[in-house]
Amino acid sequence: MAGPEGGEKGVGAETPKIEIRLCRAAGNSAWLSGCTALQSSFLKVLDQEKFDRIVRHARQTNPFYRDFIPQGGPVPLLTRAILQANNDAILNGHAVTARTSGSTGTPVRIASTPERARMEHSDTALFLDWMGGPLPRTSIIHPRSPAGADPIVPVLTPVAEQIAILQENHRTKGATAIITYPSNAVLLSEAILGANLDFRFIRRLGLISESIDPGQQALFRRAFPSAVQWSSYSAMEVGVITYQCPHEPEFHHVMGHKLAVEILDETGADCPPGRIGRIVLTDYYNTAMPFIRYEIGDLAAFGHCPCGKIPLPALRDILGKVRGCLRHRDGRLVPFIDLSVALRDLPGMRQYQVIQEQLDFFTVKVASTRPLAAEIAAAFEAEFGYTPHLEIQPVASIERDPSGKFYASICRV
Ligand SMILES: [Zn+2]
Repeated sequence: MAGPEGGEKGVGAETPKIEIRLCRAAGNSAWLSGCTALQSSFLKVLDQEKFDRIVRHARQTNPFYRDFIPQGGPVPLLTRAILQANNDAILNGHAVTARTSGSTGTPVRIASTPERARMEHSDTALFLDWMGGPLPRTSIIHPRSPAGADPIVPVLTPVAEQIAILQENHRTKGATAIITYPSNAVLLSEAILGANLDFRFIRRLGLISESIDPGQQALFRRAFPSAVQWSSYSAMEVGVITYQCPHEPEFHHVMGHKLAVEILDETGADCPPGRIGRIVLTDYYNTAMPFIRYEIGDLAAFGHCPCGKIPLPALRDILGKVRGCLRHRDGRLVPFIDLSVALRDLPGMRQYQVIQEQLDFFTVKVASTRPLAAEIAAAFEAEFGYTPHLEIQPVASIERDPSGKFYASICRV
């Protein structure tokens, strides 16, 4: 267990410590010079000095952490439940700058600083360097997403129109890259293959915010045969946690310069590489709303990426992200994202899961502080244009499935 403020229970004394030093070269925003070689075996990604600094800051400036973290340690885990129960106290008067979607639990309100937000752009630049530099791109995502300077094509744009925009952007701007959600890439791929269109001009397909399965990847390869596929694993609370290795797609390199990453078993002990456990994150730089030993609710295992080109530790088997499409009764696939946002934003909603059992029959599991049946029905009506048969099940909380994955939407049709 990590100790605060250089206490004798410090990680360095108990386990091998990984030194991640990312140095900023002059005039270059993305930087890997000065990295130390990785040890062959490690149990966590931790820079003890940075960890101690944010713990000290939190105890000095935030009354919640002053009580929560005992002087001299050890630093307890901040579970989602503790965070949700103390969200206002941890915000400590800072203006809310983001909130989680609520698809994996009660929405969490987050405050961050502009300096911290800028680090995300630096990380994107770093990743694009790994990929061989930026390409002109079309981003088809949720309009409310923070997306830097790029114009956004809203993800709910009809697929035929998305295809026309991609072709137009290629013709006029040389755009050869796409960033979108896997659920939307499925729709695009099916339409492209159905109409026998030539999309070999797409060189890079970035898939964000949702899990991807091998069947989807195979579909994308057929629709975009010249594209390198990549993905990131991120969270509203801490930004990008990993980027997929462009050389070894099974591995995802950890943004260890800004985050400590632990993977813990059911007893709270560190998992060795290869063993799946609970991801615990510490953000070294969010001084507005510190996230210290935050158990985010996802599962993963550390792995040793054999690429030899990116000297950062890696995760594999990242589990627990949201995904999925539902099916309209006219047969088309409907991305879950907008219905998900509508359900999330219902007052009193804590957690939800939508299961499409049959084309016209959905089970909706709901953990909420008040009855929401009428509003849920209205959200379905708005999304589909009709109200399917809904069985709304009030529950205390929604569990992961036996493999450890959580799906906010499941389509069994
Ligand atoms: Zn790699």
